[in-house]
Amino acid sequence: MSEDFDLSLLNSAQKEAVLYNNGNLLVSAGAGSGKTRVIAYKIAYLVKELLVPQQNILAVTFTNKAAGEMKERVESLLELNYFFGQISTFHSFCLRVLRKEAHYLGYSLDFAVCDSYDSVQIVKEVLKNMRLRLKEKPKVVHGIISAYKNGRKTSLPKDLSSDLINNVIEEYNNYLKNNNLMDFDDLLLNTLQLFRENDSVLDYYASNYPFILVDEFQDTNTVQYELIKRLSKNSIHLCVVGDEDQSIYGWRGAEYKNVSRFIEDFEDVKIIKLEKNYRSTREILKVANSVISNNPDRIEKKLFSEREEKGEMVIFGGLTPGEEAEFVAERVEELIESGELHSEIAILYRANYLSRHFEDAFVKRGIPYRVVGGIRFYERREIKDILAFLRLVNNTHDNVSFKRVINLPKRGIGEKTLDKLEQYSTSLFEAIDLIPENFPKFKFFKAFKETINNLKQAEFDLNFFDLLLEETQYIDFLKSEYFGHELESRIENIYEFRNAVKEYIQRAENPSLKEFLDSISLASDTDEISKDAVNLMTIHAAKGLEFNSVFVVGLEEGVFPTGQSFSSLEGIEEERRLIYVAITRAKTNLFLTFSRSRGFGDRYFEKRTPSRFLKEIPIEKFSISGFSPFSSPDYSSASYSSKEKIIDDSEGENKLSKGDTVIHSRYGEGTVMNVLDGGSKVIVKFKRVGIKILKGNTLKKEE
Ligand code: ATP
Ligand code: MG
Repeated sequence: MSEDFDLSLLNSAQKEAVLYNNGNLLVSAGAGSGKTRVIAYKIAYLVKELLVPQQNILAVTFTNKAAGEMKERVESLLELNYFFGQISTFHSFCLRVLRKEAHYLGYSLDFAVCDSYDSVQIVKEVLKNMRLRLKEKPKVVHGIISAYKNGRKTSLPKDLSSDLINNVIEEYNNYLKNNNLMDFDDLLLNTLQLFRENDSVLDYYASNYPFILVDEFQDTNTVQYELIKRLSKNSIHLCVVGDEDQSIYGWRGAEYKNVSRFIEDFEDVKIIKLEKNYRSTREILKVANSVISNNPDRIEKKLFSEREEKGEMVIFGGLTPGEEAEFVAERVEELIESGELHSEIAILYRANYLSRHFEDAFVKRGIPYRVVGGIRFYERREIKDILAFLRLVNNTHDNVSFKRVINLPKRGIGEKTLDKLEQYSTSLFEAIDLIPENFPKFKFFKAFKETINNLKQAEFDLNFFDLLLEETQYIDFLKSEYFGHELESRIENIYEFRNAVKEYIQRAENPSLKEFLDSISLASDTDEISKDAVNLMTIHAAKGLEFNSVFVVGLEEGVFPTGQSFSSLEGIEEERRLIYVAITRAKTNLFLTFSRSRGFGDRYFEKRTPSRFLKEIPIEKFSISGFSPFSSPDYSSASYSSKEKIIDDSEGENKLSKGDTVIHSRYGEGTVMNVLDGGSKVIVKFKRVGIKILKGNTLKKEE
């Protein structure tokens, strides 16, 4: 990234922002208007023209990646090998401060920072010391502690009270402090405490950094806002840049209102608006503006582009997620054939689990891709765990898989026990038959073997998969290990894997576990190192980036916007900002896609309604391929097996009658014994689990 420092390369508003270096400045501007570029130029200008010592400049960015890129840009503008100012994230800046000053807070300066794994171990220790036996696993408790420490609202599990959590936090904090430890939250909170309580320390830093610049200001949280506020008390120049329309971290406590608060809170704020977008074509910008204008209470921004050329603008609706992915892969191939670089193409989705169909389609066509800021679907921990169970069922001599699953959930079976087991047979699984009754965990090993044997005898169909989840209690295991968004995302992945099983069964002539596993090995075996690759990522990970061609996929109600966001206006507004971010990543070509059905959670394929956001864009700018967002497709042509019709989520009930054979997603096959409440409830006798009373629309009629 080589860039010459030349102010004539800036437009007049940008130049004004770069030249204004006294007092407080807010650069408030839409996407792609050069906000980040202004910060880089400003740093160069301060050093080159105003001869500000590099060490007196502090620039804060949102991610380490962004900080690294900013540093490179500044070094290139200044023709330097190394820039000595501070360009860093909030966390790394705070760590630097605390390394010098933590003794004021009673720590010694060689305090250690504990990562999230360490923190969970400490929670465990603390709960033990307090003689508290909680239902929740330490990892879950740590998630709650972190939310509390940051003053974030969080809903508590029923058996935990606020008082109890506060007691645990006190003990946890004491433990950290007594052992000279800080967790990630402490880095920010301790620095803030120091700035609040110790004037001389604050004075030192405030005078050391008379020039402070903050990128992506709309995503700062309350703690970060106050850090900046205190640090800038004597500053010569404080410059914050941001775009309220791109605030997408509300769920992590960010306050986009910090932008308007800044104007009220700080003295004589000069506001500069950038109105020219250099990134996107005029058409793309119109689409983005049209969507975001549906958010109430926002200050309308002018944003124009001089890029009049027309790129490709396509809306595609598939009947199934597989069709959607096929369309995307085909278009990606066409773009590449016409000279587009792989790295200039991005597939953006709302949540990680959505990557699977696209990965499958790219692998099938040999299109190199990378999952940015995430892990490829088949390499995700929970998928590898489930695969290991399946592999072991398929081949009980597979010791690698045996070792992976034997401690899921944790049973304290260590290397030693496994070594001992191996002495009975080279196949660990076979060895279970040979161990004596006094062998450690004897009963468990026997039960484990029976579970696997039961699965071995079951036919490979969806019931098989559900049986596996039930027998291994894998979802409960996840619930004990993870918390909040991470837990949700992992469970979503499991159900997405279930969809993969289902799709395979529908495709295959003679479905078998072995063939299924073979197809998976092919899908997960791709060339990792290929440099030029199509980018797959969540929209959150795409913040601040740009690509020539962008596909925003999975545009369906319940996916994007997410189901959780339906319940509040703020929720939908944040989703809308998210799609604004997604669309504004595109320079030239924009593809918006959705599927009219999708496997969702543990339910069957359901009809999906196209995202409401598709109704908020000027549709006439797009060519429409596949289903239009406004048409009702004929589902009978879907390539599902004849056994299963797609269930309609809007129909509510499923018109079952006594004697019907039905399939339930978890309980398998059964017979309807009676229909209650006009069909909204049914009593079913299942072959496998006996009689259950169920809501009618959770069932599918066997035809
Ligand atoms: P976002 O809101 O997405 O973070 P931004 O406002 O930070 O966007 P930049 O990333 O700084 O925008 O700039 C967008 C693109 O426009 C970049 O490719 C940048 O190099 C280019 N650009 C910005 N200003 C100019 C200019 N005056 N002349 C030419 N190109 C420019
Ligand atoms: Mg930017």
